[in-house]
Amino acid sequence: MSRVIATSAALPQQEPARVNLLGMPLAAMEQYFLDIGEKKFRARQLLKWIHHHGVTDFDAMTNLGKGLRERLRTEAEVRAPEIVSQHDSSDGTRKWAIRVDGGGLVETVLIPDGNRATLCVSSQVGCSLDCSFCSTGKQGFQRDLSAAEIIGQVWLAIKSYDAFQSGKGRVVTNVVMMGMGEPLLNYDNVVAAMDLMMEDNAYGISKRRVTLSTSGVVPALDELAKVSEVSLAISLHAPNDALRNELVPINRKYPIARLLESARNYIDAQKDSKRVVTVEYTLIAGVNDQREHALELVELLRDFPCKINLIPFNTFSQSDYQRPSGNAVSRFWQVLVDAGYIVTVRTTRGDDIDAACGQLVGQVVDRTRRSERYREAAQNKENNL
Ligand code: SAH
Ligand code: SF4
Repeated sequence: MSRVIATSAALPQQEPARVNLLGMPLAAMEQYFLDIGEKKFRARQLLKWIHHHGVTDFDAMTNLGKGLRERLRTEAEVRAPEIVSQHDSSDGTRKWAIRVDGGGLVETVLIPDGNRATLCVSSQVGCSLDCSFCSTGKQGFQRDLSAAEIIGQVWLAIKSYDAFQSGKGRVVTNVVMMGMGEPLLNYDNVVAAMDLMMEDNAYGISKRRVTLSTSGVVPALDELAKVSEVSLAISLHAPNDALRNELVPINRKYPIARLLESARNYIDAQKDSKRVVTVEYTLIAGVNDQREHALELVELLRDFPCKINLIPFNTFSQSDYQRPSGNAVSRFWQVLVDAGYIVTVRTTRGDDIDAACGQLVGQVVDRTRRSERYREAAQNKENNL
């Protein structure tokens, strides 16, 4: 007994961890205030200071009493992740590299387009799912982002334009969870952050303008259907299981039929009957971009409520895949359009700053050692010939 006391007495005094209010949605914040003996409405005031005015200093929150401000100063904080660098593309795209606690880097991209501006937000440092065409997958998984680090990307983007309530119009009109990471593998934090995106006392973005993209974590998608009404995009990339198993390995666990069923249930659970799923299809030269693939896709998606978004593969140094020619993309597109689908082709934005899909954090570390394994396999094949 005495030894235990002696040991703990010798430990350095640790600062109690402060709760970061940046990532706290309305309901959780109301509970937080109730727990400290305050009225619920304080939560709305706090949210407005943080997300409408961009204020992080409790002393500047003038409608809170002095006692409450003092208390918040000692036990809470409003802390955004740190911007390491910012790059502006000649086409108006802006990309930030952001350092999160523990030293990992993620990227966030703002893509202006007429009177809209879409923010592409990351949900994890790296990704464990190892899709064969994705540079994030090549880094392996480091950790989940907290809700504060996810919503913090929206906060930083607005801050960087000095546009918190400046009357300059909305800097971020749409959000897509299409940056680094698989959002459904960081479910709770992503749901909390998306709540704040749509919350009127925070960013007030409509549910149709917040899109979650998933490679197909089916059980989590089934859960999401019960709590969320954001728009859904699924990363299909192949019209059959054999090919999708190669490109999107999670398909071996949750094959195409299960993913489509789960996505259909998600749409059916929405009150708004006109909604559709966006099917993302990255076109890789000679791999999944042939006429036979387009015809198979037409059959697969027959009667499935969707629009299709074709994404010509964006190259990066560790990949041997090639981007298809403009003609190959057009031919693929035409087959789908002739079959009656609504099909868009994603134009590459921010090419000069490596801000395109799947290129985020340019200098990737291949923690999966996949490129090495591929090279070894190719070498063995050659040796055996
Ligand atoms: N993990 C989620 C969201 C992040 S990836 C998902 O996979 O859906 C966002 C989109 O970019 C996905 O459709 C993904 O397949 C695509 N993508 C990844 N790497 C790409 C690349 N090199 N070129 C084109 N699209 C890519
Ligand atoms: Fe992860 Fe999405 Fe990249 Fe696949 S495409 S490795 S799920 S980030």
